[in-house]
Order: sequence, then structure tokens, then C-alpha cells
Amino acid sequence: MPKLVILGTASAIPDAAHDNTHMVVHGLGGSVVVDSGCNPIVSCKRAQVPLDNLLALIITHFHPDHVSGVPNFLLDLWLLNRQNNLNIYGLRVTLDKVQAMMSLFEWKDWPGFYPVAFEPVRPAENTLVMETPDFRILAAPTHHLVPILALKLVSQATGRSIVYSSDTSPCDALARLARGADVLIHEAAGAQSGHSSAAMAGSIARQAGVRRLSLIHYQTNESPDELMAEAHTTFSGEITLARDLDVFEF
Ligand SMILES: [Zn+2]
Repeated sequence: MPKLVILGTASAIPDAAHDNTHMVVHGLGGSVVVDSGCNPIVSCKRAQVPLDNLLALIITHFHPDHVSGVPNFLLDLWLLNRQNNLNIYGLRVTLDKVQAMMSLFEWKDWPGFYPVAFEPVRPAENTLVMETPDFRILAAPTHHLVPILALKLVSQATGRSIVYSSDTSPCDALARLARGADVLIHEAAGAQSGHSSAAMAGSIARQAGVRRLSLIHYQTNESPDELMAEAHTTFSGEITLARDLDVFEF
């Protein structure tokens, strides 16, 4: 059964117990890392998720807390002797910036560097990003300060699904993507522009009719009980606060 492992849960400011929000989807056919604000080499080791069959990296948007670990991640895979192709998925504007960032490190000159293919994702609802024998990943654009994608993971065997909001203000497209999902993992950074409060996350969970809401990308100095109580004002289903190394089988 494929699983989603949460590698970090903090909003932009991490602490000792909360890395920047990123995650890995893992199945028998390979793994896919989502975002890289810190170095996933470290967090995947902590989570005991092997990266020897890493298929792809998906970048939801180009903000430092989601991309600043990319150069180190790609460098370390090379130093670990990776030979296989790595696909990097994201919106075209995001991928252009990742390539510009990597070019500052003159990565084209790193000898024997494994092939990397940049695969732009169409900015439309329910776009298929990629699939493996274990799961498929769909995307939809949502509302943030820069162009961004939310993701839907669907188990090939069971059809069960998990939706990850990425960073967004309350967004109907996200509710449509999450319709009928088992779990909605929704950011709760706060009600400021481009983000959502816990109550707003609850509203989207209710609109989507999901079974369970898990709050992520929250301010680590906020009270977990208060965040969940706030989400309960708008959503009557199961609510949890995502923690680093949480595992969701689907
Ligand atoms: Zn963020």
C-alpha cells in the first residue's frame, strides 16, 4: 500500500521539532519527494524512506521555504552516485526559476551528473502530473502570492486519495480537487494574504466533504489545541495536527 510520509510541518520558520513543510510519497515502484525547503536527504533518512528508487521531485511553488534545499538535494544525490534520470515537475514558471537557481551553481559542469528532466505541469484542474504502479498524482492551481499547485495522490489499488493544499488562501478549485478525498492536508499558516487560518481550512474540508482534515504549514509557536479547536468551528469530521514523520497509508 503506498504511503505519504510528512517530512516537515512548519510554515516558513522551522524549529527543532518542525522542519519546513515537505513530504515524500513512497510505494514499491518508487518514491516522489514534494518540495525541498530543507535537504530531503536528511529528512528521508530520519523517516527511514529509502531514496535509491527516487523517481521525481515535485516543486509546488518558488518560495524559499519550499525550494532552498533543492541545490543541496541534487548535489547530494550526485555525490551518492545516482545514475538514473530524475524528473522535476512544477509549473513552467517555477521550473524556469529552479533552473536559474541551479545555473548559479554551474551544475551543468558537474562531471558525470545524472540526467534531470524538467516536466512542466499544465495549470489546469485535475491535471495528471505522473503515475507509478502504486499511485497517481494530480494537480490543480490554487491561490497564493506566486503561481502554485495543490496535489492529489490517488492509490492505484484502492482509489483512496489524499489532497495536499500547499500554500493557499481559501480556494474553490482546491475544494473540487479534494471532493471525496479520504484526507485533506491543508495549510493553516494564518489568515494573511495567500494563506488560510485553521477555520478556513475547516471550511474547505467541509465544502469538499473529506473524512479527515490534517492541519500543516502552521506557526510552530501556536497552541495545537487552539488550532484544532478553531478548525472544529467549521468542520465536524476528524481533525489532526500534522507532525513531522506522520505516515498516511492510502
Ligand atoms: Zn510556504
